[in-house]
Amino acid sequence: MAFSAKQANVLAKGRLTATRVYAKLVQKAEYIWTDGQEGQLSKGFIFNELRSKTKTFEEDMGMDPTAYPDWSYDGSSTGQAKGNNSDCILRHVLQPVRVVPDPIRGAPHVLVMCEVFSPDGTPHPTNTRAKLREVFDEKVQATQPWFGFEQEYTMMNSRTQRVYGWPESGYPAPQGPFYCGVGAESVFGRPLAEAHLEACMQAGLTISGINSEVLPGQWEFQIGPVGPLDLGDEVHLARWLLHRLGENYGIVSTFHPKPVKGDWNGTGAHTNFSTADMRVPGGMAAIEAAIEKLSKTHPEHISQYGLQNDQRLTGAHETCDINTFKHGVADRGSSIRIPLPVMLKGYGYLEDRRPAANVDPYTVARLLLKTCVRQ
Ligand code: ADP
Ligand code: MN
Ligand code: MN
Ligand code: MN
Ligand code: MN
Repeated sequence: MAFSAKQANVLAKGRLTATRVYAKLVQKAEYIWTDGQEGQLSKGFIFNELRSKTKTFEEDMGMDPTAYPDWSYDGSSTGQAKGNNSDCILRHVLQPVRVVPDPIRGAPHVLVMCEVFSPDGTPHPTNTRAKLREVFDEKVQATQPWFGFEQEYTMMNSRTQRVYGWPESGYPAPQGPFYCGVGAESVFGRPLAEAHLEACMQAGLTISGINSEVLPGQWEFQIGPVGPLDLGDEVHLARWLLHRLGENYGIVSTFHPKPVKGDWNGTGAHTNFSTADMRVPGGMAAIEAAIEKLSKTHPEHISQYGLQNDQRLTGAHETCDINTFKHGVADRGSSIRIPLPVMLKGYGYLEDRRPAANVDPYTVARLLLKTCVRQ
């Protein structure tokens, strides 16, 4: 924390106790950042990629991210720097880019989404938001791209590391009754899913809904429609809230694309995408043109659409095989789906069904813009 000149003077003279000075602090800001996915697999599949720490302020700093000072952390402790004796090359810089109300601590406290910079001032290689900023230039902005992200996740019991609500040994009933189900025999973990929805709304995120999923203990929330930078910021903030609230329930939410092997659905992040010309009557032509371009960049997208996605994209369980590009209307076995209401109206958006749940949302947005708008 920073002392005002007056406080520092008073402290130096020993006339005030530290307690008295700390009593003047009014705001807690939780600085949140991604540690990158490089080390994720080595950490085991249930570990998430978000980090955060708290900074206090003597006044309410408001909602403008530029009002918040940069901060730093030890990159060697987050898998973002090689261990080294020299402190100066380990300090990574956090630059605030989005501030929202903190729904857990309440007003005036905030969550602060940050970009990560290397000690030399350049964007850290894991800073995928900076890569998206490069692609999102004026020409791309003029097309008014919107994204809707369907974030699936699977709740795990933090003690047993089995899927939350599953029997201690053996399996629940086969899939069928669980998707959008109701009742204690079908739906596991609703208190966390509900608390998360409420928290996202209180934080002012563009959360469009939630539903329980095909695998019991699996859930989905949707963010959107929003622009590409907001998409990534909001998905990360919503993921952080999910993990943070999970601490209160003993539930770890995993984004692994195939948390349970066998005849159980995987976990994805369908990404819905449109530009202004797709959203007006006659927009189907623009949607089809985008799909044509996507058919030519399939391997590039797949290579960045999440870790271990090959375990999920098998051609079964509502997916298309990872090596095949297929598109269709209302076809859940396709790579790109045109939703039925969009086909009936003749305009709207497309759904990219390929991304794994552990995909980086800034990266999906960057690739869709690069392929569909820039090429
Ligand atoms: P599904 O039927 O595949 O389960 P969902 O209802 O879960 O679809 O998610 C659809 C997502 O698409 C929502 O996040 C919604 O906000 C978003 N969306 C709606 N219209 C558009 C649009 N024109 N462009 C991009 N995304 C959109
Ligand atoms: Mn320390
Ligand atoms: Mn959905
Ligand atoms: Mn789903
Ligand atoms: Mn979908």
